[in-house]
Amino acid sequence: MSEKSEQQVGLGPIPFYKPSVSEEEIAAVVDTLRSGWLTMGPKTRLFEERFATEVGASHAIAVSSATAGLHLGLDAMDLQPGDEVLVPTITFASTAATVVHAGAIPVLVDCEADTLNMDVDDAARKCGPRTKAIVPVHLAGHPCEMDRIAALAAERGLRVMEDAAHALPASYRGRSVGSISELTVFSFYATKNLTTGEGGMVTTDNAELADRIRMRRLHGMSRDAWKRYRSDGSWRYDVAYPGFKYNTTDVAAALGLVQLDRLAAMQERRMAIARRYMAALADCREIELPAVRPEIGHAWHLFIVRMNHDMLTIHRDAVIEAMTAAGVGTSVHFIPLHVHSYYRDRFGYNDARLPEASRQWERMISLPLFPALSDADVDRVAATLVGIVERNRR
Ligand SMILES: *Cc1c(COP(=O)(O)O)cnc(C)c1O
Repeated sequence: MSEKSEQQVGLGPIPFYKPSVSEEEIAAVVDTLRSGWLTMGPKTRLFEERFATEVGASHAIAVSSATAGLHLGLDAMDLQPGDEVLVPTITFASTAATVVHAGAIPVLVDCEADTLNMDVDDAARKCGPRTKAIVPVHLAGHPCEMDRIAALAAERGLRVMEDAAHALPASYRGRSVGSISELTVFSFYATKNLTTGEGGMVTTDNAELADRIRMRRLHGMSRDAWKRYRSDGSWRYDVAYPGFKYNTTDVAAALGLVQLDRLAAMQERRMAIARRYMAALADCREIELPAVRPEIGHAWHLFIVRMNHDMLTIHRDAVIEAMTAAGVGTSVHFIPLHVHSYYRDRFGYNDARLPEASRQWERMISLPLFPALSDADVDRVAATLVGIVERNRR
């Protein structure tokens, strides 16, 4: 890997992400459009059944987004004003925004230095008399310490809802993510490992909770509204709760069903790309590679490297700028919640209260990782990064 490869002319830019949609998905969507049933219906039911089987859960409820699923999960817990929910500070906005929407207070938790996942010791420290739930996020697709989280939850009487937006398919000590905790929420947003454009799924083994979420997903009506429009359906319904409009559509489900068929193959490719990055960057001491614990199966949604600033004359931000200039798209996952104005102003969070995450996020860069990325693309991304680092060694 020389500087030459990053300066080769005539090579197109490598985007940070490109969705993997084949002719099969396109045909399935067109079929559904021709079927006369567009919104939630038989395709959604099939998608839910197949997804539940895929992750080993008793129930799967399809929703319009992971954000909707997180909100429904918290809403189903019937939290009271002043109740607290533990959320990692390194996550996407909606993990905590939905806690606010559910009328509770998000309590931000620091991260582990190696995996960047929620630090369970810090979660335990921040657990108080009003703490009702914990929402671990499997950052980049690396599952959190679920045994320790389950033990903390049992000890303190907390509900557990996993934000598995990055973690399909992933496993922890041989168990599939989606079958471990009381509630798990997946995202099918355009950039995620399985996409329906927009969409999400809630999984649970608790039948009562599944019924509640299913009902609240569609206006709080006592029976699935779609049944009302079948020829044998009755026009009668009852509103038993002020529910939400968080259902998905059969158009999205048709896309999801094909994506589910392709998931194993897409995952193979993600793993091969991750291995190739690991090998290509292994000798570069200025770059810290992602930690992978032996007891987990990684979904490889993201490949997050970290800059060892003490060995470099430039900051992460300048590395990102140089990558962009060389035609390689990158991103940062995530700017921690405590850095954002809402969380600073409303709850008084600052770097001192979340020291590890404050140190780590400044070093993070997410590299392109999607199934259509070729080996040559991966090599070019790695060579570009190594070239930038080598020219800016301390
Ligand atoms: C993408 C994402 C979400 C939100 O997913 P949507 O389906 O877009 O609502 C939530 N949490 C994390 C960690 C995410 O990356």
